[in-house]
Amino acid sequence: MLNGKTALVTGSTSGIGLGIAKALAQQGARLVLNGFGDVDEAKAEVAALGGQVGYHGADMSKPAEIEAMMTYAATEFGGVDILVNNAGIQFVSPIEDFPPAKWDAIVSINLSAAFHTTRLAIPHMRAQNWGRVINIASTHGLVGSPFKVAYVAAKHGLVGMTKVVALETATTGITANAICPGWVLTPLVQKQIDDRAALEKISVKQASDELLDEKEPSKQFTTPEQLAGLALFLCSPAADNVRGAAWPADGGWTAQ
Ligand code: NAD
Repeated sequence: MLNGKTALVTGSTSGIGLGIAKALAQQGARLVLNGFGDVDEAKAEVAALGGQVGYHGADMSKPAEIEAMMTYAATEFGGVDILVNNAGIQFVSPIEDFPPAKWDAIVSINLSAAFHTTRLAIPHMRAQNWGRVINIASTHGLVGSPFKVAYVAAKHGLVGMTKVVALETATTGITANAICPGWVLTPLVQKQIDDRAALEKISVKQASDELLDEKEPSKQFTTPEQLAGLALFLCSPAADNVRGAAWPADGGWTAQ
């Protein structure tokens, strides 16, 4: 389905990004991976599924490094046809104790990075009149939760940016949409579960159950594979006229 297309997934060395990268590779896309941690393992997992795999280690908080990554994708892969803005970090604290440096880091990685990748990817997409921008936002792009001021602000911003990009490209073959997951059991959420277990002196299992009970009627985590299925749908011809959506995959969290 995606033979001949190049996909860049930011933050694709673990969790949701890696899941989406694998699904896109399975459909025949060439992949440019990005992110920290076990890069070789991620590259091997994606390469095992077929096509060409590249990697650029740009730090998404640094615009100059993002520009270098987009140049790499253009020169080595002919440009980005499918852009998945996924890299993200979290920090949890009451606003009065929230370190300003954490605010800056979250806003730059979770929001500004997507501005830079998108502005640099759109000219190539326009030239061929086809493209997909898929922003991994969050339930927290739609509703708030206490102690996550930077994350909630950045994700609401990302949903807003998705709408603007969708409108600016509305008469073209480029679409921009956001996916808004609830809880997904990745390293980002495991840390919140571990912190909660330590704080409340309860087991990790109990902390995980509490986290789900609090927010999700389904009491189930969404999986990276399910989110990858949604991303594939957004890349398909059936989604040619899906524009500016912010699609929850949250076990009913935002239906309440
Ligand atoms: P994760 O921690 O497993 O993965 C995050 C990825 O981003 C990793 O590859 C990491 O190396 C990369 N990354 C972090 N900082 C970076 C930087 N400065 N530059 C480049 N790469 C960087 O987390 P995840 O849960 O898979 O999260 C992926 C996205 O999904 C994030 O945007 C997150 O906000 C969003 N999300 C996650 C959940 C959840 O429950 N896990 C829910 C909603 C939204």
